[in-house]
Amino acid sequence: MNIQEVLHRLRINPTNSGTSTGNDWLKEESTPAITSYSPVNGLAIAEVQSAGAQSFEHVMKTAEQAFVFWRNVPAPKRGDIVRQFGDELRKHKQDLGTLVSYEMGKSLQEGLGEVQEMIDICDFAVGLSRQLYGLTMHSERTNHRMYEQWHPLGIVGIISAFNFPVAVWAWNAALAWVCGNVCIWKPSSKTPIVALACQNIIADVLKQNDLPEGISNLLIGNAAGTMINNNKRIPLVSFTGSTKIGRIVASAVASRFGRSILELGGNNAIIISKDADLEMSVIGAVFGAVGTAGQRCTSTRRLIVQEDIYEDFKNKLVRAYGQLRIGDPLDEKTHVGPLIDTDAVMAYQSAIEKGNTEGANFIVEGGVLEGDRYVSGCYVKPCIAEVENHYEIVQEETFAPILYLIKYKTLEEAIALQNGVPQGLSSAIMTLNLREAEAFLSVNGSDCGIANVNIGTSGAEIGGAFGGEKETGGGRESGSDAWKGYMRRQTNTINYSNTLPLAQGIKFDL
Ligand code: NAD
Repeated sequence: MNIQEVLHRLRINPTNSGTSTGNDWLKEESTPAITSYSPVNGLAIAEVQSAGAQSFEHVMKTAEQAFVFWRNVPAPKRGDIVRQFGDELRKHKQDLGTLVSYEMGKSLQEGLGEVQEMIDICDFAVGLSRQLYGLTMHSERTNHRMYEQWHPLGIVGIISAFNFPVAVWAWNAALAWVCGNVCIWKPSSKTPIVALACQNIIADVLKQNDLPEGISNLLIGNAAGTMINNNKRIPLVSFTGSTKIGRIVASAVASRFGRSILELGGNNAIIISKDADLEMSVIGAVFGAVGTAGQRCTSTRRLIVQEDIYEDFKNKLVRAYGQLRIGDPLDEKTHVGPLIDTDAVMAYQSAIEKGNTEGANFIVEGGVLEGDRYVSGCYVKPCIAEVENHYEIVQEETFAPILYLIKYKTLEEAIALQNGVPQGLSSAIMTLNLREAEAFLSVNGSDCGIANVNIGTSGAEIGGAFGGEKETGGGRESGSDAWKGYMRRQTNTINYSNTLPLAQGIKFDL
């Protein structure tokens, strides 16, 4: 892999990449530059200028003008633009996937998978562009008709996390666009370069179709996040990130009566029943815990294991951890790549320390790796600790490959443990027992937005609505009817009689 060639093909200038839609006017501002470093080897990838108030206002105006045009383009035609974007992503899949892997640190397979997810959501959105259905209702009045229709909202602000540096944007943007909205994307400042590469691709599609550039806008840097939170001209903010920052975003947006879609942290568990297929459970648990180095919102953080099989399962798990290869994520033999940066490494270390203080029993020890292959200082050993669910550290989301083991006796107890955390994103049960599976999915079962049977917690298909409850924020994105979150519903009543009957039989005679 030659990263310079990848950057060149994606039209990234390593010394000054600019911001937004590739417009030169943004470079005029005297805002700080952000350098993106690869966690793979610690080397600088490219530098990009961050957006300030001047760029923000310019982007807002560009977006507002674009919205007036775009909302009048018929939805299936908007879908065709998203189809063209999906086609371009197919052409750039290898380069974009490589850059995701190099800038974020996930394996190349996962980087390519992330781009595939963008392609899939484009396909989904193309179909959706002909299916933005509203209901019709029977009016209680004679010769009246009632129905509802869905209109676009306007500017959608998308603030995304580092761990899915491009897919989360696409989940939001593809849907928002076919719904008739325009988007302003503020990517993570830890992964700005791959965001810029995506923006270059969509900007070309818009240009080739003579469409306003303001349909898709990019603003890099944390200042832009705050400006998006507080701006009344942005009716919807879709935020993906930690619960801590989500709380700030949610209250700022709510205080101006804006809407938000919140996709926040998870603390996901798999219940391993005594009726589970143990081989399958080990694979699901290990992939869930160490995939993306434990930096998925759906990563498996807790395993709740039935006491009869606890020792056997634990031994199998420890053996599997012994096989893990940690290293360069672009090497296809690697299982575990680096954490995003050295701050994340410190958070991992302090979680281990805190776990030790609280009484955790580490059965696979953690630690930071050193040596030629790990010069970035971001490589850590996945570890496993036996704990109790109420420990403070177990109640928190540590974004690193630390897996907690908890023992249970009865299914009721297991479900209570699984639900006994502040977050509510993803959950799973491994069992071949139908009664257990159904109980887990029932109203008395998992309280999460995602509940799986015989599949781990991590990785979701775009066809379903994605999101979680409690401190995960309650938002839903991607498939099913998540599109409704990007539109405003209007109820229409039409009177085609020659009288004016009032609802509820009210008489008003003059
Ligand atoms: P983070 O909360 O640190 O940052 C998220 C985004 O918010 C970034 O773009 C950041 O620059 C921006 N930001 C920071 N301060 C802001 C402010 N005051 N106003 C507006 N924006 C601001 O999260 P992260 O470390 O990038 O990502 C990891 C977290 O994201 C984890 O908690 C993970 O579970 C969560 N996540 C959730 C989902 C989901 O769908 N539920 C998906 C991916 C990641």
